[in-house]
Formats: sequence, structure tokens, C-alpha cells
Amino acid sequence: MVENTSTRKALIAGNWKMNLDHLQAIAFVQKLAWTLKDQSFQSSNVDVAVFPPFTDLRSVQTLISADNLDFQLGAQDLSPYDSGAHTGDISGAFLAQLASRYVIIGHSERRADHGESDEVVTAKVQAALRHKLVPVICVGETAEDLEKVGAAKVPTEQLAAVLAAIPAESEIVVAYEPVWAIGSGTPATADQAEDVCAILRETIRGAHGDEQADRTRILYGGSVKAANIAGFMKRANVDGALVGGASLDVEEFAAICQFEKHVTLD
Ligand code: PEP
Repeated sequence: MVENTSTRKALIAGNWKMNLDHLQAIAFVQKLAWTLKDQSFQSSNVDVAVFPPFTDLRSVQTLISADNLDFQLGAQDLSPYDSGAHTGDISGAFLAQLASRYVIIGHSERRADHGESDEVVTAKVQAALRHKLVPVICVGETAEDLEKVGAAKVPTEQLAAVLAAIPAESEIVVAYEPVWAIGSGTPATADQAEDVCAILRETIRGAHGDEQADRTRILYGGSVKAANIAGFMKRANVDGALVGGASLDVEEFAAICQFEKHVTLD
């Protein structure tokens, strides 16, 4: 096993999905901040980001800024358009105004529930970059893909489609999320995650060169919890995690953020 000795700063990202209203969000973020402070969490090696629903962003942003909390903010989606007659859509300009640093794009739930194609995902990534947001580009294979063509083909093609349409120097985060592992309680093994993340890094290298490949953070997502995070984080090409269900439990999410303290279980 190759240890992760990269200089890329780890990113632990909590995707709340459609959970927690704005009042619950305030309580949650305050409790998370207290918990991490109590446990003397050092954020020098780890960025912690939360991705609340749109309706919570203003409240969470106000709290982060008023209390000077060491959390970054992200949104779960954005419109490919910047303004105009697109009822129900949210512009990247609005997210940038709310100090969102990141935006998740192409999550498998949006690809499945809203039929988002690689073209739509690419247009959204371009919109994010126009507004200086860092897109967290989600890619991953279904169980059926895995059986038919293996793990790497689909996520590699999904990523390559986006890379072909954005400038080489764009700051992006890639999240490898096998669809069969999301919300299933059955994560990929750390070796499986590493194998695909390594291939995704080579895809970036081929499209955008060494510098970009070496600096881009690639996250693993799919049933990550405190008990398995350390194994993923030790792999050379896994730079963090996109966490769904476990990001809604303060103690569990705090423990994931502190993966450096965990005994490796595998
Ligand atoms: C996700 O939805 O991005 C995710 C990784 O979910 P979970 O951690 O619940 O599998």
C-alpha cells in the first residue's frame, strides 16, 4: 500500500442532501464547532466543508462569518445559467455572494432523479467556474456498470467529458462515488477506491498536465463513516471524503474530520 504523502490538503465534505431546515442547520453547525473545539481539532491539515440545502445557506454563512468558524461552505447544485427565465434554478452568482466556496455538481442522485447528462454536468461546471466557485464533480459507476465494464470506465468517461470543456488551470475537486456504495452501508474497499482515484488522477494528467493532476483533490464518497475513514485517507490518491448520511450526525462527522487520530482498521 502506498501511503498518502501528498501535499494536497485533505477535504472532508458533508453533503446534507435534503435534510435539516435552516433552524436545525444553525444548531447543527454550532454543535459541530463546539465538538471539534472540545476535541482540540487542528484544521491545518484538513478543510471541513458543509453542503446544506439552498434555504440554509444564508443562515449557515452568517453563523460561520459571525463566529469566525473554520468551516467552508458549499451548495449542492447550481444552474448552468447565470440569470433569467429559469424558474426554480439557483445562479452561481447568488452562491458566490453567499460566500459559497464549493458546489457539488453531477451527484448521482441528480443524474438519476433529474436526468442530468454529462453535457448538463459540464455546463454546470462551466457556470461554477465563471463565478469562481470550486466545482466538486461527482463521478461513479452503478452496480450494473461495475458488473458489465468494471469500476473505472464510467467515472473516467464522465470526468473526461468535463475536462475536455474547461481550461486546464481550473480549480476543481473530483469526488469518486460508486453509486452502489452511496447510502448502502457497503463502502468500496480502500483498495478499490484507490485504484479508481489513481486512474482519475491519470485522466486529469492526460487532459490538463502534471501540475493540475498533482494539485487536484480527489475524494472518495459512499458509506464513509468514522470506522472506515482512516483506511481511505491512507491511500495515495484519496485526498478526502464526500460524506452523506454520516455528515448528519455531529459526533460521527466530527470523528471523520479527525481521521488522523483514528487507528487504521484495515
Ligand atoms: C453522498 O450522497 O454523496 C454519499 C456519499 O452518501 P453516503 O455517505 O450516505 O453514502
